[in-house]
Parts: sequence; structure tokens; C-alpha cells
Amino acid sequence: MDLVCLDLEGVLIPEIWIAFAEETGISALRATTRDIPDYDQLMTQRLALLDEHGLKLPEIQRVIQSLKPLPGAVEFLRGLRSAYQVVILSDTFYEFAMPMMAQLEMPTLLCHRLLVADDGQITGYRLRQVDPKRQAVKAFAELNYRIFAAGDSYNDTTMLGAADAGFLFKAPAHVIKEFPEFRATDDYQVLRRLIDEAAANDTRSE
Ligand SMILES: [Mg+2]
Repeated sequence: MDLVCLDLEGVLIPEIWIAFAEETGISALRATTRDIPDYDQLMTQRLALLDEHGLKLPEIQRVIQSLKPLPGAVEFLRGLRSAYQVVILSDTFYEFAMPMMAQLEMPTLLCHRLLVADDGQITGYRLRQVDPKRQAVKAFAELNYRIFAAGDSYNDTTMLGAADAGFLFKAPAHVIKEFPEFRATDDYQVLRRLIDEAAANDTRSE
């Protein structure tokens, strides 16, 4: 049994925080896991910036609702889901992601939750678990699935490493250079071919 685990932002949809930074003009909100690999450090910085500018969840959700999936993403995902079980593993939050998931035809999403006050102020966040993407891949492997995974950032590399085959998709050059063990592509058709080839090869990596 085969299962494909995909990252969300940068792979199927734009980076939510970058889009939000552009809308609000707060350039410091542009930082992502591509720039700051330590996720807690990154989120603490983001929440402090939101507070500083008095920005609450409804403003962020309004921007997210205006975003579109990356060109070709919907068709890629639809085709992939007709051949494989697919789970999206993301370090975003359900409060941010759900409008985008509707546009992606509601694949299964495992991610985190925000802590939100009654007035919409984001007061914190709750990670589902530590190293969530790798833990999910490990758990699926325990359920006897072969896992193929694709992502674009530092926070995907432990997932790619734990999978039977892992691929970098639309990753920045420095990530590709730092992790030469993962095949890299920017093209959905090539990614689909890499997954199909891995699936056709029935030897397990361990
Ligand atoms: Mg990403």
C-alpha cells in the first residue's frame, strides 16, 4: 500500500505569510522556514509582529481567502489522489489553511492549531507534536504503508528522509544544495513521474 505525503505551502499553495506580508506591507513577516529553520523562533517572531501591528485572525483569514493554489496544483493533486492515498503534512494551522483546502478539493490535512482570544487576537499556537512531519511518516510506515513524500523547505527534510522516497519540489537553491540526497524538480509532471517510478520499484529502503 502506497501513501503520498505532501507539504502544503510552497508546494500546492503560495506561502501564506509572504502573501500576508505583501498585503500588509510588513516586510519582516516575509520570513519563512526557508529563512529561519527553527520553527518556534519563526512563529514567536511572527506573533510578536502581529501584536505590534494590532493584527488579528480575521484580517489574516481575509487575505488567505483571496489566495489561489499554485498553477497546476489542483490538477496535479486530483490526478495523484486518483492513483494514491494522499495526506497533506503542513506546519501551518487549521485556522489559516481551511479556505485553501476547499480550493484543493479537501484532501486530508495534518497540521497545527492557533490559540485565539475572543477578540480574534492570536495569543499563541499549539503544535500537534514535535517533528510532526517525520512522526507522521513514521506512523504511516508502522501501518504498513510505503511513503513517498515531497516538500520545499528545511521543515520537510526529516519527512523526506523518513519516507521510502523523498523529493524536493520548488525548493530554493540553497536547500537543494544542502540536501543533494533528494531529487529535486519544479514541475508537477516530473514530480508525478518520480513518484510513479518510486512506486514501481518494490524494494523498500529499509
Ligand atoms: Mg513548504
